[in-house]
Amino acid sequence: MRELEEKILQDGKVFPGNILKVDSFLNHQIDVEMLDKMADEFYRLYKNEKITRILTIEASGIAVAVPIAQRFHVPVVFAKKAKSKNIGDGVYTSHVHSYTYNKDFTVTVSKDYLNEDDHILIVDDFLANGLAADGLIDIANQSGAKVVGFGICVEKLFQGGGEKLRKQGYRVESLAKIKSFDNKKVNFE
Ligand code: 5GP
Repeated sequence: MRELEEKILQDGKVFPGNILKVDSFLNHQIDVEMLDKMADEFYRLYKNEKITRILTIEASGIAVAVPIAQRFHVPVVFAKKAKSKNIGDGVYTSHVHSYTYNKDFTVTVSKDYLNEDDHILIVDDFLANGLAADGLIDIANQSGAKVVGFGICVEKLFQGGGEKLRKQGYRVESLAKIKSFDNKKVNFE
């Protein structure tokens, strides 16, 4: 998506560890006009599919998911990063490792909000190694729901998560695909 790429070139900052910071419009301050345009594009791509839930992971996925859900007239369900060890049996649970933050965390989704009748579009701000995606697939599989595909704002192709998901047969739609960072410059596919 041309406008997103232009915004990344204009405002994105490349940090050590292949991290792209987009705090000025996506991860801290939020440009809602841009989110609306991205939601229009995801809707265009998936409008012929049956979708009953938009599934994402807190925190930054939520802002991306809400305007998409509005277009499909379905709820957003976000996986919560669990703090307590006493999670209980009313939830689906998975474990995610974040290379970005070098942390492991447990994510949970209540069994009340996802079941085998659901058709899910999984949405996130970034796709890097694909470990957050794996955790969300794991949760969808536990619920028996069908994963229709992925809607990703920024995919870092060189970290391989998207390739892994596509090889598994998932449809992955990314609005900006980054081929490489060289000398802090962002190169798109
Ligand atoms: P993955 O699990 O695919 O390795 O990483 C995806 C998750 O890590 C996303 O939910 C996103 O929040 C975070 N992430 C990965 N790479 C970046 C990045 O370059 N910039 C930002 N802002 N977040 C990232």
